[in-house]
Amino acid sequence: SLELRDLTMAYGEIEVLREVSLEVEPGTTTCIIGPSGSGKSTLLRGVNRLHEPKSGDVLLAGESVLTQKPDAVRKRIGLVFQHFNLFPDHTALENVALAVRHVKGLSKAESRRIAEARLEEVGLAERADHRPRDLSGGQQQRVAIARALAMEPEVMLFDEATSALDPELVKGVLNLMAQLAQRGMTMLVVTHEMGFARKVADQVVFMDEGRVVEAGAPADLFEHPKSPRLQRFLSEVL
Ligand code: ATP
Ligand code: MG
Repeated sequence: SLELRDLTMAYGEIEVLREVSLEVEPGTTTCIIGPSGSGKSTLLRGVNRLHEPKSGDVLLAGESVLTQKPDAVRKRIGLVFQHFNLFPDHTALENVALAVRHVKGLSKAESRRIAEARLEEVGLAERADHRPRDLSGGQQQRVAIARALAMEPEVMLFDEATSALDPELVKGVLNLMAQLAQRGMTMLVVTHEMGFARKVADQVVFMDEGRVVEAGAPADLFEHPKSPRLQRFLSEVL
């Protein structure tokens, strides 16, 4: 499981995450929702050690990740961003294979074999030899997901993975994420897609101003929001 304990994070003097605690059980999906600036991306950056927490702890399978090397943590926790950051001069297959080789230190042939299997899994076997510019945004994002999966992470983090996509491409990526959830991947997903959160999440966490305001099963949270802040948020986004 992935557990955050009283995680507090700051940029300089300004605290943007305040004592956030949450647990993602193995094989479950937690969606984080909340207004812009509420600290959702900062939380993921803390988990993946892209920004050091001020206090609190992050535990992966019961062990603190804060005492481990950032690179070691990133092998175990995959992160997919809004912008996919693929190498423009490499094909989809090479993008995945190069990452596998770099992180896992496997041979070229073995890395390519893993990359092929992962691209197949995300429905891109036919596009393996295309460069990013010859793929749609949705396909590029699926390459980025295949790349993250190829590391065989214990947990996948998604930060608004679909919000840079044209509307007609969003569904394909959300469906892929739903499939991963269904197959038992442990996922922490920051999303604006309330339909996805409602359908796929085992737990939904609503954040505002750096704090968890409310958390629970999607049916409870969406149908019976308790806090006025969440009621107002839902009335604005639904
Ligand atoms: P959005 O939905 O717009 O992506 P978010 O919930 O992901 O928002 P964060 O990006 O975590 O919010 O930002 C939380 C707060 O921290 C905001 O007030 C933001 O301005 C501030 N912040 C984010 N990154 C930095 C940074 N690198 N330096 C200083 N302040 C930052
Ligand atoms: Mg963000």
